[in-house]
Amino acid sequence: MRDVLNVTLVAQRKLYESINTTLNADGADLVGIYYSSELDAEIGYPWVKSVVIYGIGVEDEALLLNAKLRKWSERKQFVDILLDYIGNRLGMELTEMGVKVKVLSAALPELDLRRLAVDAGLGFYGKNSLVITEEFGPRVRFGGVLLSVPLKHFSIEINENPCFHCNKCVEACPARALNHGYNLMACDEYNSRLNKHKKCTMCTDVCPVGKE
Ligand code: SF4
Ligand code: SF4
Repeated sequence: MRDVLNVTLVAQRKLYESINTTLNADGADLVGIYYSSELDAEIGYPWVKSVVIYGIGVEDEALLLNAKLRKWSERKQFVDILLDYIGNRLGMELTEMGVKVKVLSAALPELDLRRLAVDAGLGFYGKNSLVITEEFGPRVRFGGVLLSVPLKHFSIEINENPCFHCNKCVEACPARALNHGYNLMACDEYNSRLNKHKKCTMCTDVCPVGKE
């Protein structure tokens, strides 16, 4: 296998552009790179140098019109399948280019994709414990691909956390599960009392970010 760890910045830029082009063409709405010099230890794979994280808006209009998915759970499931398809295609393309990869499934993630999305600059943790992106608020799902190439020059600049000026999800939560950080037990307990086909999505629905 060609040694891509020593590629120049120009080659890294070409690789980054190729990743972006492939992901955008396949339907990814957001693309970010997470690089850290200690990523291998953090993630537990000694060869990993950076992570590509990509997202799809769960309420993307074209997606909803085409797929006719009414329920939140159906949309999430559909988007996860799409993310895994995209990840596998990107994985194959990068492997052909000599890059070692591992695709992180959105449906069965081995790593915390939300944390990686925040690390990649795609959003902030909101008061509802979800990742709040500028484009979709919390209505987004993520997939990822671990890379053996250090794409350290391509991180995204991030702006101010929108939760500084908002408290809508905290006020709307019927279980008062967001009053002092996210109370998983209170949220679970409330959801367990709902009809088994229903799931509370109030803190996602009320978030104004990405709706303006
Ligand atoms: S899902 Fe519902 S119960 Fe759980 S934190 Fe969000 S609003 Fe509260
Ligand atoms: S509703 Fe407001 S406080 Fe809650 S996550 Fe969204 S921006 Fe943050």
